[in-house]
This record gives sequence, structure tokens and C-alpha cells, in this order.
Amino acid sequence: MIYVHVPFCGSFCIYCDFYSEIARSAGVRDRYVNDICAEATRRQEEIRRSSAVRTLYFGGGTPSVLPLSSLERIVRAVDAGPLDEFTVEVNPEDIVQGGLDYVRGLLDLGVNRVSMGVQSLDEGMLRWMKRRHDAAGARRAFRLLRQAGVENLSVDVIFGISQLTDEVLERTVSELLDWGPEHVSAYQLTIEPKSALGQLYARGAYVPASDGQCSAQYGLLCERLAAAGFRHYEISNWARPGREAIHNSAYWSRAAYVGLGPGAHSFDGQGRRSWNSQTLSGWTAESETLDDAAQRTERIMLGLRTDRGVGRVELPAGAVERLLGSGALTELPGGFIRIPEDHWFVSDAIIADLV
Ligand code: SF4
Repeated sequence: MIYVHVPFCGSFCIYCDFYSEIARSAGVRDRYVNDICAEATRRQEEIRRSSAVRTLYFGGGTPSVLPLSSLERIVRAVDAGPLDEFTVEVNPEDIVQGGLDYVRGLLDLGVNRVSMGVQSLDEGMLRWMKRRHDAAGARRAFRLLRQAGVENLSVDVIFGISQLTDEVLERTVSELLDWGPEHVSAYQLTIEPKSALGQLYARGAYVPASDGQCSAQYGLLCERLAAAGFRHYEISNWARPGREAIHNSAYWSRAAYVGLGPGAHSFDGQGRRSWNSQTLSGWTAESETLDDAAQRTERIMLGLRTDRGVGRVELPAGAVERLLGSGALTELPGGFIRIPEDHWFVSDAIIADLV
């Protein structure tokens, strides 16, 4: 299970604080590609050891700002062997610009899943978010991806923006469902202090959506996606049966993974985590080892984000009985406990009660 971080974007979205830089020159991008190829070569042993889950994921940033030749160099250097899932995150604008040739090039590299950041199909919302694409671009990109033969497509949506009305969200979701994606990820807007939105908020120029508004919009998504036959398998993720993301699901079950590139995290599947520094070239790694209590907390936090839940043995008996009684937890066959969907919106408080 390998993650490759591509730290370039065409422009910055208002809410984002991921590690990324504007990809201004080919020279800067080439230096990054050289460094990540060197890291992949140096960490071949770890890559081999993490192959119990056979996935490769290019995330960012925006991997689709890289030309196919750069992506190909990285794929060769990673040398991941046979893969069950190879996902690339894309921006609609890059797909429109690259056209069928770019998408076919991705498929030739072995990509079999594409995750596209649509976020909204309302022009006003897209402009406010400072997304690079407009709604027409997203429609065109989706059609191009399908036309080129991408059979496993995920789209991202954002909700919980104070000026986003339920009607506008409803229109976006309806149209996205008409497109027929295999997977939908929906994230509530968070105000990251270092983002442009965080600065607006700090000077009182953005008033966050109320909990009631966010909860209603989350409920709308749950309802619409369930009615369309999607399985809500993780707090923020819905899939058509059999199309659940293998890579992300493995994170939630704490499988080992290798993260390559600036800011990428790695995990040995037991207690050791490491993370690369956030610098475009010459990044270095730091690490920590989690003790038993920290590992248990992590198993609870990750497990309760999913519809598979977590083993009852991990949880404090008294709190479990109380939360089962109030309907904030449900018992599953096989000794597992989960948070029911109608309580996922308040999962942070439930989890805090259990760890
Ligand atoms: S949200 Fe994605 S595309 Fe926008 S700035 Fe962040 S990483 Fe780049």
C-alpha cells in the first residue's frame, strides 16, 4: 500500500491547508520527480513489505498537474508490482485540458480508479471556493474520463458552507448521481487556521454554518445516496457495492503503508509512524512509536468511522452499555460495535466518550 504525495496545485482553494505549492516551473517539478524517484528506490524494501494491500494512490496537491512522463517515471521507480487498485486524484480542469490522450495515458500507466474533486456544481460556490474549474468543466471532465474508459470514478463534494443552501446542495447531488459515479466522498467544510478561509474567519469576514445546517446537509447526503443504492461505509464515503476504496479502507483498518514525497506519512502496521518534512526538495523523515494505549485509541477512532465498527473488547464496558442504551452505538454480529449512521454526525463526541 503506497501513497505518493504530489505537492503541486494550479491555484489554491480557499479552505485548503494541505502541503502544496503552485507548480510554476518545469525545473521545480523535475527536481521533485528526481527526489521522489530516489526516495522510492531507497525505500524498496519497505515497499515490498507493505504489499499485503496492493494499492497505489497518487494524492496531493493535484497529481494531474504533472505531465504523463513525470507520472510514468514515478510509477516505474515505485515499482509496486501487481496492483488491485491504482487511484489518481485529478482536477477537472486538467482533464479538460489534457483530453482523451491524457486520460488514456493514465490508464496505460495502470490507473484503474480516478478521484475527481468536483466539490459543487454551483458556479457561485465554485468561485467562492476559488476552485480552478467551473461546473461545465466538471461535466466535461467526467464525460471524458468515461469516454476514455475509466470504470471506477469517485467524486468529492463539500457541504456545511454557511451560504450553501440545501436546495443548491440538492441540485449538485442530483446531478452527480445522474452522472453515475461508483463512489462519492462528502466532506464538511472545516476552517483551517492557515488557509485563506481561516484568515477570513479570523477577521470576522466568514461566519461558519451552524451545526443544525451542517447536520441537515449531512442528512440530505445520507438520504439521497442511500436511495441511489450507495453503501455508506465510512463517515465521509459512499460506494456502490464492491466499489469501496481499497486503499482508504486499509488506512482505517491500520494496514502498513509507505508514504512517499513531501509531507507524506508512513505506518508499519504496528506502532511506528513516520512523516516526511514539507519541503519541495530534499525532504527528511521523523518518526514516533505509539505505545499500547495510543494504538488502542487509534483502533477505536478509525474503526468507529466505518460501518464495520470496532471489536467490543477494545471499548470500556460501562460506556458501551450506556451508549448502546441511548442508541449512540449499535451491536453488530461477531462482537463488533459501531456508531449507527444517524449518529455519525456527532461521532466525535461519542468517540471522545470511549477513549
Ligand atoms: S483542495 Fe486540492 S486542489 Fe485545492 S489547493 Fe488544496 S490540494 Fe490543491
